[in-house]
Amino acid sequence: MSDVYAESTTGADPTDPATLARYTTLRLGGAAGRLETATSADEIVHRVQEAERREDPVLILAGGSNVVIGDRGFPGTVVLVRSRGLRVVGEDADTVTVRVEAGEPWDDLVAATVANGWSGLECLSGIPGSAGATPIQNVGAYGQEVAETVTGVQVYDRTDGSVGRIDAADCGFVYRGSIFKYSDRWVVLSVDFRLARSPLSGPVRYAELARALGVEVGDQVPLADARATVLRLRAGKGMVLDAADPDTWSVGSFFTNPVLELEAYELLRERAADLGEPPAWPGAGDVVKVSAAWLIDKAGFVKGHPGPEGVAISSKHTLALTNRGGTASTAALVALAREIRDAVHDRFGVTLHPEPVLINCTI
Ligand SMILES: Cc1cc2nc3c(=O)[nH]c(=O)nc-3n(C[C@H](O)[C@H](O)[C@H](O)COP(=O)(O)OP(=O)(O)OC[C@H]3O[C@@H](n4cnc5c(N)ncnc54)[C@H](O)[C@@H]3O)c2cc1C
Repeated sequence: MSDVYAESTTGADPTDPATLARYTTLRLGGAAGRLETATSADEIVHRVQEAERREDPVLILAGGSNVVIGDRGFPGTVVLVRSRGLRVVGEDADTVTVRVEAGEPWDDLVAATVANGWSGLECLSGIPGSAGATPIQNVGAYGQEVAETVTGVQVYDRTDGSVGRIDAADCGFVYRGSIFKYSDRWVVLSVDFRLARSPLSGPVRYAELARALGVEVGDQVPLADARATVLRLRAGKGMVLDAADPDTWSVGSFFTNPVLELEAYELLRERAADLGEPPAWPGAGDVVKVSAAWLIDKAGFVKGHPGPEGVAISSKHTLALTNRGGTASTAALVALAREIRDAVHDRFGVTLHPEPVLINCTI
């Protein structure tokens, strides 16, 4: 099967069709015990139920762009989510609500909303993966996150075998997280997004994006301009998938930006006093979000820093750990992640946490 999702032959045993390296953007990960493709919501439910009947562990895999799978793979059933489609399920004079099947490629959806004059997803252009995975970690970039537009998620609940809806208010959306992340309970079947009927983007919140667009923070710009500029900025950082560029063979940012209590933030400032002010943004409540990229860079890991056996920090972005091809393995990748995490902790007393979901491996 060939589609927009990662399907590479670089990785452990490329001759084995069940090798999960073929289905992850890192191009790493051992074999699945059993690999099944589901092309509709009903089929996703059916595949999961069948695996449950066999008492087989289940891994839901879509674009494979936010998972790190161990070299020994997954000794159960991997269900590849490949359902497609979107339809309008609600509209009024100002908004339109679209229901998007879980396997719909995310960036195809964003492109369609921009083309239709539906505003709310444009700054999330160029993010790999599926629409169904976006609620999992409340996908966000350039000042937008899906929590602002998701109104509800249709799910299969593995605890009681029911299919139902979880309203956005009950999704527990936080920075790069939700009730779905690290939980096997729910399988996302489709997601509803409410978007504004507008030829203009939402107010641009991200200073770098505003600069690149030549506008002030808070201004609105034509949707197509926002999308094109986000794509250009992302490409410059290796954050748009490119099969020919190993700087993009990653999970995007490997670590989240640490969210610190004020006391911990003051301690960081003291420990970093010789380096200038650590870049930081106010979080919700009495917390401060600090730049993981800055901490990593100041702990001595520059862009391109090599790790063991064919893995390295991207030459375009300090936060992306990449597979350079050849003998790369998940063991090498997590060893590099561990080295970075420990060095940042030793230097600044701040613990970095991985953003992707780790499967049968740990840092
Ligand atoms: C180059 C690059 C840039 C990136 N940039 C960003 C960015 O700017 N912002 C951002 O937030 N993320 C970013 N990411 C991370 C990633 O693209 C997103 O998290 C994306 O939403 C993951 O989608 P996926 O379909 O690939 O999920 P997968 O990697 O297939 O799965 C991720 C997790 O979600 C679970 N899952 C997937 N689908 C379902 C489902 N239907 N039901 C239940 N569970 C499911 C999986 O079991 C796994 O735990 C980037 C990744 C790369 C490689």
